[in-house]
Amino acid sequence: MLGRIRRRALAQQIPAPPPAAQPACPLCGRPIPEGHGDAHHLVPKSEGGTVTVQLHRMCHRQIHALIPERELAREYASIAALLRHPGVARYVQWVSNKPADMRERTRKSVGVRARG
Ligand SMILES: [Zn+2]
Ligand SMILES: [Zn+2]
Repeated sequence: MLGRIRRRALAQQIPAPPPAAQPACPLCGRPIPEGHGDAHHLVPKSEGGTVTVQLHRMCHRQIHALIPERELAREYASIAALLRHPGVARYVQWVSNKPADMRERTRKSVGVRARG
């Protein structure tokens, strides 16, 4: 009797579908896990802006660490413009292959706590 080897992996190998509800960060393109999102005012509130986009908190912090609000309002009031900023571009390139739920290290030296 010939052995009928049927050792197919019967373990269920159904790839877990990604949660559809996760929005993508327009800056870096990675999904934003729950609790990692932050609303960014394309034109800062202090300059009269009302339109917001959801970004990773660390992407958001990065923008404000690199660009003063006055400049955001004047020159970087869109995602496309932000991506043209050399510092932002470098950050996006760096972060694009990092896990989406990575949290930035707390940098105590940076006192920028801009919101909006
Ligand atoms: Zn912001
Ligand atoms: Zn992001």
